[in-house]
Amino acid sequence: MGNVTGRRTEVVVIGGGYAGVLAANRLTRRDDVAVTLVNARDRFVERVRLHQLVGGSDDAVVDFGDLLAKRVRLVVDTVTEIDAPRRRLVLEKGEPLAYDYLVYAVGSTSGPLEMPGAAEHALPLATLEEAERVRAALGSAPVDAPLVVVGSGPLGIETAAELAELGRRVTLVCGRVLSPYSHESARRTIRRRLESLGVRLLEGTTAVRVTRASVELADGRSMPSAVTIWTAGFAAADLARRSGLSTDADGRLLADETLTSIDDDRIVATGDAASPQGVPLRMSCQAALPLGSHAADTVLQRIAGGTPAGFDRGIAAMCVSLGRRFGVFQFARFDDTAIRLHVPGRLGALLKEEACKSPISQIRAEARRPGTHRWPVKDGRRAERVRAAADGAGRLRESGERPAASAA
Ligand SMILES: Cc1cc2nc3c(=O)[nH]c(=O)nc-3n(C[C@H](O)[C@H](O)[C@H](O)COP(=O)(O)OP(=O)(O)OC[C@H]3O[C@@H](n4cnc5c(N)ncnc54)[C@H](O)[C@@H]3O)c2cc1C
Repeated sequence: MGNVTGRRTEVVVIGGGYAGVLAANRLTRRDDVAVTLVNARDRFVERVRLHQLVGGSDDAVVDFGDLLAKRVRLVVDTVTEIDAPRRRLVLEKGEPLAYDYLVYAVGSTSGPLEMPGAAEHALPLATLEEAERVRAALGSAPVDAPLVVVGSGPLGIETAAELAELGRRVTLVCGRVLSPYSHESARRTIRRRLESLGVRLLEGTTAVRVTRASVELADGRSMPSAVTIWTAGFAAADLARRSGLSTDADGRLLADETLTSIDDDRIVATGDAASPQGVPLRMSCQAALPLGSHAADTVLQRIAGGTPAGFDRGIAAMCVSLGRRFGVFQFARFDDTAIRLHVPGRLGALLKEEACKSPISQIRAEARRPGTHRWPVKDGRRAERVRAAADGAGRLRESGERPAASAA
């Protein structure tokens, strides 16, 4: 759509996280585009630092004034429905908001707490409010009280290490194996560091029930727990599904290779909430940046009457902090599978800190000079994986089976 009418094109971004803010800033490239960002909170949340908020070494928030391009209008509200046929958003507090194009960037939340007792007695740690609740619960527990962290992905590892470094008694319930993403070599380093901090690692067993004062395990043991922290996976926010848009099994908005919704070419998905071609990237701040800039480019191309490009970027590392002085920077192939090479120790910690700071710098740079963001990592095998996923889905359809929901 060009602007032959002289009217500005209204683009609304839902979700002021890493992907949404980068996209909003980039969209200001065109003077004839009015950009509105709707976010549930009045501050940007650095989710990658929420375990630090729990430990007290960072508040994990940044003022939007410090991140957003001047031409982005911020509306602090929650979108309760996307009315795609009428191209408008229903807001919790304000008047409905009309759009010409929509960028869907609502991110993720904690996964479902379906295990018996988990919803009542475990505290998830995926959002600012959840992190504040965990911090408050820790504040009222004696310093030597036993704590259990359930889940040994990066979030569980980082939280366990952060608390152990503060002298807390932490047990980490790992499931089958500690840090499933990592290469065995990095896993050994992580295991050694956690043990040296005094974290009790329970590998090869899972939690099966949470009570007010304990976590019960599949192998019959019962771990006393004054505060149980739940870090077993993220789930996509469910706004798209509730609004009747097509999503994948995990609730992410199903999009084509340009990140455009398969139902509606005025809606473009990005960040944790996007499932391009049903083959989503790992939910991560790292992926949110290239997805954010690509979503903006798709919208800008459409406005200009051009053909948007296919998304072909990848991510090639994962880093975890192990307290404030130690980290592991795990390298990976461009299709996001871990390799032996990793950087441990103090240097690993510095690289991890850089990985936390860099997204904020990139967002600020895009606010100052929209259109300059570049992401160097190309996933040369993405097309192959998309084909394999399509073949797999075809086979499942023929056999009448349903695809399994993948873990976030
Ligand atoms: C403790 C922790 C540590 C992490 N560490 C790392 C790490 O080291 N490296 C890494 O790559 N990733 C890490 N992650 C994951 C990373 O933070 C997320 O993948 C990333 O934040 C996703 O970015 P996003 O922009 O898609 O969504 P988010 O950052 O989740 O932002 C989404 C925004 O949308 C808003 N929103 C949602 N629904 C609505 C609505 N209906 N109306 C209005 N606003 C709405 C939310 O309030 C939020 O502000 C970590 C996450 C956690 C919790």
